Amino acid sequence: PYDMLIVGGGPAGAAAAVYAARKGIRTGVAAERFGGQVNDTLAIENFISVTATDGPKFAAALEAHVKAYDVDIMNLQRAEKLIPASEPGGLIEIQLANGGSLKARSVIVSTGARWRNVNVPGEAEYKNKGVAYCPHCDGPLFKGKRVAVIGGGNSGVEAAIDLAGIVAHVSLFEFADQLRADAVLVNKLKSLPNVSIHTSAQTTELTGDGNKLDGLSYTDRVSGAAHHVELEGVFVQIGLVPNTEWLKGTLELSKFGEIIVDSHGRTSLPGVFAAGDVTTVPFKQIIIATGDGAKAALGAFDYLMRLPAS
Ligand code: FAD
Repeated sequence: PYDMLIVGGGPAGAAAAVYAARKGIRTGVAAERFGGQVNDTLAIENFISVTATDGPKFAAALEAHVKAYDVDIMNLQRAEKLIPASEPGGLIEIQLANGGSLKARSVIVSTGARWRNVNVPGEAEYKNKGVAYCPHCDGPLFKGKRVAVIGGGNSGVEAAIDLAGIVAHVSLFEFADQLRADAVLVNKLKSLPNVSIHTSAQTTELTGDGNKLDGLSYTDRVSGAAHHVELEGVFVQIGLVPNTEWLKGTLELSKFGEIIVDSHGRTSLPGVFAAGDVTTVPFKQIIIATGDGAKAALGAFDYLMRLPAS
């Protein structure tokens, strides 16, 4: 069995693996796709000490760092079930989609999250070519340009307020007849001079010239009229979904499906820790996920140290 088994190989899982291996304990990482969301990222300019890089380069560097240590990397492995230890301090089992199973004294879940898509024509085609999901990451790329935000919940309205300070103009589109964000955010948004709000607006297409995005088409759900707005960027803000479907009923999750963790990365199950975008940790960013992975690995090491000698 492993001393520490990490499920998920994004920034959080890679950091946890490096920290675990440096303790000289038996460490494994099982991941569906090593590198995680970073693989889908074009420019990364906010990982402090690295002025600018791109996703595939960053993912390769994560892997190289983990491979510099004695870690079993099991790529293309999807975890389907976590079976808690049958007695305190016992082995935890992770069952894989390929029928195999792995056992470990401690487990770190770092299976990340995924952005919900609007699923309209043009979204996939212009991803990273005008279509973005993370205002903290990609906001500065649209300095002085016109952008839209799709989604009028808290994350959409926060994104619109944030972007309004950087870009020339923000158009916010909400499907329902009113914004669903907290009143204080909505009031703030309405006070901004360079924002227009469209409610009862169904986005129907993200348009472009074949190379990059150039606009958004929507239908006014009250009048039925079709409209088109010209812009350079669209931020899709209709939810970030944690990859915890396989853990339902096993670990305590928040109402958004995130794994609830404490300051040491502990979950509701002894010996099971979690880190990164899959948890309740606020602000989903690479630098935060890596720090969080390190923290969970140290938390799990502390747990292992206190287990009775076997
Ligand atoms: P993830 O990166 O999501 O990694 C999860 C890992 O778990 C993957 O290896 C995945 O394959 C694996 N996994 C999932 N389910 C299972 C399972 N059941 N069994 C086994 N393995 C599983 N952040 C920034 O700081 N700067 C940026 O510029 C930036 N740009 C971004 C651009 C885009 C397009 C996107 C989508 C995100 C961007 N982010 C950026 C956010 C950043 O990528 C995430 O915050 C970060 O990757 C989270 O790391 P993580 O390790 O928690 O999860």
